[in-house]
Amino acid sequence: MATSADRLVGTTQVRVSMPTAPGSVGIFGGTFDPLHLGHVAAAERARQSLGLEVVLLVVANDPWQKSPDRQVSPAEERLAMARLGVEGHQGIEVCDLEVARGGPSYTIDTVEELAQSGVMLPWLVVGADLAGMLDTWERADELRHLVRVAVLSRPGSPLRLPAGWRSVAIESDDLDISSSDIRRDVRAGLPLAGRVPEDIIRHISQQGLYA
Ligand code: ATP
Ligand code: MG
Repeated sequence: MATSADRLVGTTQVRVSMPTAPGSVGIFGGTFDPLHLGHVAAAERARQSLGLEVVLLVVANDPWQKSPDRQVSPAEERLAMARLGVEGHQGIEVCDLEVARGGPSYTIDTVEELAQSGVMLPWLVVGADLAGMLDTWERADELRHLVRVAVLSRPGSPLRLPAGWRSVAIESDDLDISSSDIRRDVRAGLPLAGRVPEDIIRHISQQGLYA
């Protein structure tokens, strides 16, 4: 029988069962610039559908596929907002492994680091817009053997399974929210209520982010 215990996963204290059952941890990575309610709903849905102990919101340090094209907020700022956004959500934890590691954030490195802490065969949780991109990720041919993929539906992207990856599709709440739209709307002075957790809205305005 699995017992519950606090385990140190990198620098993040995570409550996982011991020994970790295969597939009981979800890795939901992203830039989270900022975290919005679409992310929270997707994480909740993945946890519930897959019966996961914990979904780790892994905040990318340097999202190398995005950073050449646009300015990304400092990692500490994105981490702080993610923490505000999931406070009180049981089974969803913010993971700072990639920020602590520094440099470009490769999921394969994170999966290998988690494996050293006993987390085997985690679920890689991605929105439908990313499912077709997995082959472009660093060391994709190794990564495909170390994870299972859960693809969540997202408005604007067809819900397709990535060929060559063990994967399942999950119908999510289909919230039409993106961080890009949020950043644009802050610049335009439009309200964020109902799309971003209240504490994050306050943080954005206090810190003058995206203005
Ligand atoms: P940006 O517009 O800056 O790309 P984003 O809203 O896509 O921001 P990311 O940080 O890029 O957010 O995404 C992190 C993960 O969350 C990705 O797997 C993405 O597909 C997923 N995701 C983001 N928004 C949603 C949503 N509304 N529904 C389902 N999945 C989502
Ligand atoms: Mg995105």
